[in-house]
Amino acid sequence: ETTKKKGHIVMIPFMAHGHLIPFLALARKIQQTTNTIYTITIASTPLNIQHLKSAISTTFSNNDISIHLAELPFNSSQYGLPPNIENTEKLPLTDIIKIFHASTSLQAPFSSLISNITEQEGHPPLCIISDVFLGWVTNVAKCLGTKNITFTTCGAYGTLAYISIWSNLPHRKTDSDEFWVEGFPQNYRFHISQMHRYLRQADGSDSWSKFFPPQIALSMKSDGWICNTVEKIETFGLQHLRKYLELPVWSVGPLLPPSSALKGLNSKYRAGKESGIALEECIEWLDLKDEKSVLYISFGSQNTISASQMMALAEGLEESEKTFIWVIRPPFGFDMNGEFKEEWLPKGFEERTRLSKRGLLVHKWGPQLEILSHKSTGAFLSHCGWNSVLESLSQGVPIIGWPLAAEQGYNAKMLVEEMGVSVELTRTVESVISKEDVKRVIGIVMDQEGKGKEMKEKANEIAVHMREATIERGEEKGSSLRAMDDFVRTIL
Ligand code: UDP
Repeated sequence: ETTKKKGHIVMIPFMAHGHLIPFLALARKIQQTTNTIYTITIASTPLNIQHLKSAISTTFSNNDISIHLAELPFNSSQYGLPPNIENTEKLPLTDIIKIFHASTSLQAPFSSLISNITEQEGHPPLCIISDVFLGWVTNVAKCLGTKNITFTTCGAYGTLAYISIWSNLPHRKTDSDEFWVEGFPQNYRFHISQMHRYLRQADGSDSWSKFFPPQIALSMKSDGWICNTVEKIETFGLQHLRKYLELPVWSVGPLLPPSSALKGLNSKYRAGKESGIALEECIEWLDLKDEKSVLYISFGSQNTISASQMMALAEGLEESEKTFIWVIRPPFGFDMNGEFKEEWLPKGFEERTRLSKRGLLVHKWGPQLEILSHKSTGAFLSHCGWNSVLESLSQGVPIIGWPLAAEQGYNAKMLVEEMGVSVELTRTVESVISKEDVKRVIGIVMDQEGKGKEMKEKANEIAVHMREATIERGEEKGSSLRAMDDFVRTIL
């Protein structure tokens, strides 16, 4: 480092793919906004640092590498994790909670990092931006005399529902399946089926309840929140989140993965998992299809559906006669990164779809943003993870909802009720679905007339709002650029 930077911003993401990449995108956005006058350091465990390195090397040109990476020592076995497991990938869902608990062990090495920076630079960093799940950072920041900003990688609506339900467990206080969630209007109702079963069953004594409420409570004491969303698309969610937190909330989104970073990750995944598909192959396949005719199916980076659901989905797809790209993994209960067995699909399914060119099965990991941005893609059957939602809407692609975990059930509700860009197929990995359900929903969303057309138009409007939020027209800056300016003023 030859030029002296004006201050230091330290970031610490939760250790999951859907968090690391938005943190990197946020770091990049801060650098763009501030003309790289600040040093930015992202701290994480060694394997996650490797992950970030490979993403950065494909994203930044040589004269633009000003993101520093700091390794925090991590002992996975201490929390009952297998060796070399440092993030949620490759872990069965039942073990994911261990990563959350293990993340609290980063407190000591992270404090040392902040102390070292303070010593070397003569003053503490300008601020620490920490993941909403790493609430303990608030204490570190207070002790070491710096500000703490919480970054929620979810949308405003989903964040509010998630933090409020974990903090208040409203479903435990009623016999009804429907309940009010503090922070939302009085007449607003959520349904128990919109929650993940760990939360449905949480009673304060289980390992999930022992982690989330205290960490969320700490994050609510930070100096402000950054949200990966856009003012105009989440007016309702932002208004209520701000009221609930009583803190500034900067919506700086959409923070989309730079597609070159995804390319890097995709090739890495291909190598690591000995599967996936070449980007070129996917694009060539899509090039041959009609405009908006292809359904893209994927359940994010760490979820899969049950064996019986997979069978029904495949049958429904075949009978729907629509073309599709399906990122497919072994069903729930099996090693998600293991060998795929033909018996999980209807007899001859893979061959029939290949020969008829009706479907492309991509094993484990696909080039999602590239697929979504292709003109042939007409709809996305998604688990409604927030990154997937943003990526889809940024390309004007309506969504068939199938939420599986985390805050996805709340996102799915918002997509249907607030945004009008989605129909829900089903919820959770436990539900029973039939091929008729699949056919019916695909029919509605991919219809070029009627409701399907309406959803498409709404998704296109949202895509426009997203673009406008991040551009400058003459003197007028988009809302996300203004939010970023305001955030920077606040930390100075
Ligand atoms: N993703 C991808 N290819 C896949 C599956 C996922 O590129 O086959 C990317 C996707 O584009 C998104 C992220 O992984 O950026 C998934 O994040 P999301 O918030 O949607 O879900 P999560 O994985 O956190 O459940």
